[in-house]
Amino acid sequence: MKSWEKNIRRVEPYVPGEQPQGKDIIKLNTNENPYPPAPGVGKVLKGNIADRLRLYPDPTIGSLVEAIADYQGLDGDQVFVGVGSDDVIALAYLTFFNSSKPILFPDITYSFYDVWANLFKIPYKQIELDKNLRIRKEDYCIENGGIIIANPNAPTSIYEDLDTIRYILDKNQDSIVIIDEAYIDFGGKSAIELIKDYENLLVIQTFSKSRAMAGMRIGYAMGSKTLIRALNDVKYSFNSYTLNLPSILCGVESIKDDEYFRETVEKIKITRDKTMKELEALGFSFPKSMANFIFAKHKEVSGLKIYEELRKRNIYVRHFNKPKISNYVRITIGTDREMEVLIQSLKEIIG
Ligand code: PMP
Repeated sequence: MKSWEKNIRRVEPYVPGEQPQGKDIIKLNTNENPYPPAPGVGKVLKGNIADRLRLYPDPTIGSLVEAIADYQGLDGDQVFVGVGSDDVIALAYLTFFNSSKPILFPDITYSFYDVWANLFKIPYKQIELDKNLRIRKEDYCIENGGIIIANPNAPTSIYEDLDTIRYILDKNQDSIVIIDEAYIDFGGKSAIELIKDYENLLVIQTFSKSRAMAGMRIGYAMGSKTLIRALNDVKYSFNSYTLNLPSILCGVESIKDDEYFRETVEKIKITRDKTMKELEALGFSFPKSMANFIFAKHKEVSGLKIYEELRKRNIYVRHFNKPKISNYVRITIGTDREMEVLIQSLKEIIG
C-alpha cells in the first residue's frame, strides 16, 4: 500500500437497488411510484426554464419550503429541504449525532442507517426487532446519542402507531429522535403533530414515493426552529445551493395539486390491498403493509429463488441477502397490470 493510500477514508457503501434500463421491464424493486407526477410538474419541464439556468437557484429554497410548511400546517422556519431524504438524513446525522454514546436504530431497517454512522464515525447500536419484525419500544430506553426509526419501517412495511413514537420521545428527552417517514402517505398517521410537543423530534419525508418524483431528488425535514436552524447552519457549511431550479419549481407544483396526489396514493393502496390477498392465496405470508411495498415470504419456495426466477422474466423485486430476512422478497406496488403479470409469473414459479 502506498503511504498516501493510508489517508483514504475506507467505507463500505450502501448498495442501492438495481436500476435496469431497457423496455419491457417490470420494475418493482426500489419502491418508486408507477404513476407520473402531478401534471403541473410536466408543464414546468416543458416550459422555458433553460433561460433561467444561468443563475444560481435560491439557496434558501424559499418557495418550496413555504409551500411544504403551508401544506403541513407549520412555519417556514420549521422546514428544511434537501436533495432527497438521503441527503437530509445524512445532514441530520452530521448535525445531531455528535455524542460518544451510540445512536440506536432497529437491526432490520433502511440499510443506509449504519452506512452513514460508519461514514461519520458515529457509534451505533442496532436494536433487534421482535420475532414478528416489530419494534419493541421498551428497548429504546437505554442511554444513547440519538435515535432514528423509519415509520413505516423498510423493508418490513410495518407502521407503529403514534403512541409508540410518543413513548420513545418521552423516554428520550435528552436525545434527538428522527422519524423517517418515507412511506407515511400510504397509510400511517404522521408524527408531525408531535412536533409542537417535542423540540427534539425531527420528522423526515420525501417526494420520491407518494409524489412520484424519485428522479427529482427532493426530501425535507420538519421540526422545531432550533433543529431546523442547526440543519441550515451545517448545510451552509457544506453546499449552499443544494436543490436545482427545476426541482424547486416542480416541487411546488406537486404540493399545489393535492387532488392528484390523493388520487394516485389511493390507487396504489387499492392495488396493494388486492395484491396482498392474491399473494396470500399463493401461500405467501407478510406483515400488513402500510407502505407502497409488500415484504413477503413463501411457505415453500425461497426468497432467493423467487427473486431469481422473477428476474429471468424481466420482473425486478428486491432480495436482501441478510440474516433473518433472506427468505423474503420486497415487492413494490406497481400498476394493476404490472401486478397481474407478477401474480401470473409467481403462479408459474411456485408451480
Ligand atoms: N428512507 C427510507 C426508509 C427509504 O426506503 C428511502 C428510499 N430508499 C429513503 C429514506 C431515501 O429516499 P430518497 O432519498 O429518494 O428521498
